[in-house]
Amino acid sequence: MKTGQGKTVINDCRLFDGTGAPAQLGQSIHYENGKITYVGDSASQPAYDSTTTHVIDGSELTVIPGLVEAHFHPTYFNVAELADLDIKYPVEYVTLLAAANAKLALECGYTSARSGGSLFNIDVWLKKAIAEDVVVGPRLAANGREICGVGGLMDWNPDFRKIGMEGLVLLINGPDEARSAVRKLVKDGVEWVKTYPTGDAAAPDVNDHHTLCMTFEEMHAVVQTAHNHHLKVTGHCRATEGIKNALLAGYDCLEHGTFMDDETMDLLLERDVPVVPALYFELASIENGPAFNMPQSVIDGHQETLDGGTESARRILKEGGRIGLGGDYGFAWNPHGDYAKELSFFVNYVGFTPEQTLMCATKTGAEIAGSDDIVGTLEIDKLADILVVNGNPFEDITLLEDPTNFYAVIQNGIIKAGFCLNK
Ligand SMILES: [Zn+2]
Repeated sequence: MKTGQGKTVINDCRLFDGTGAPAQLGQSIHYENGKITYVGDSASQPAYDSTTTHVIDGSELTVIPGLVEAHFHPTYFNVAELADLDIKYPVEYVTLLAAANAKLALECGYTSARSGGSLFNIDVWLKKAIAEDVVVGPRLAANGREICGVGGLMDWNPDFRKIGMEGLVLLINGPDEARSAVRKLVKDGVEWVKTYPTGDAAAPDVNDHHTLCMTFEEMHAVVQTAHNHHLKVTGHCRATEGIKNALLAGYDCLEHGTFMDDETMDLLLERDVPVVPALYFELASIENGPAFNMPQSVIDGHQETLDGGTESARRILKEGGRIGLGGDYGFAWNPHGDYAKELSFFVNYVGFTPEQTLMCATKTGAEIAGSDDIVGTLEIDKLADILVVNGNPFEDITLLEDPTNFYAVIQNGIIKAGFCLNK
């Protein structure tokens, strides 16, 4: 990815650095050749040459780290039914849709993302295309195809059709096939291995949210093989037993972490495993599902998931655990572009403060994506991935839902989106 050249100073802004310190007024941030060189009080900032420096008056602006979408499905193209997820379009077209979704995510202030699964191997190549400036998008941690047990949540195409689930999921039976699937993904070049330990409200008949879709032995085989090749493992974990299995098997992250009891909470905290609840999806399903003919049994399951997931998220944060924010966007009732609704939801429904929410969406997100050494907070020597907002999102978090409120989306020290480009 190209790096910005020259020096920029944003003066006298409200700044939230993402380290845990509160947002403060009267701050300045300097970055030069793509890297942050100063963050702190405007009054004590180092001198700069205003004839060669790009100086931005920040008196109306709030500066925060670039957002991290921690559960991003670049290839989900606002799907309304199962067939949309795997067989509707060929890989060529879905690749173009994924590039469009990546551009949209960047324009929405998301300078980094971790894929939560992708059709074929598209996200691995999308990551390369973004890194080489072929297309614009978030810095991406790639995931490729997902792993699920035969007959589990992601195995919906009937055998008589003989089309399998090849593009979306590697289906396994037993630890040997689990190892074999991970080895395929190693060759594909993924960084994360996404699995399906449990079912979901979306499949109330045979794979509901209290169902297991993989055995502990399969999950353990995935982790052993993935860790051997320096890959990380995450999983769609709703049912309590599935969460427990994932933590005991050595998972590096949990998606959803919905129904947690005392034992799983203790295990989670002991191992400091981050959780990405992706909760607004549940509310969006309940509110918007009827318009898409979602059956009542599915909506009821989403309500139970919303209640259980909200309680777990509150408890994780209260007891010192880590939460990343990402929202499973890419369904018709939860489309790409709505990413920051997850943030508003965590403030207005779950009850996190804006500061807590933004730390989840920046610092913890970067930790999950494996890029916290270079981004995620605004600190000296980190890369200048910065979101500059017109107004005060600490007063009104919903400002972040509308990209027309963004003065600038800065990645690697280059302004890639925002209304300052139109001035
Ligand atoms: Zn997902």
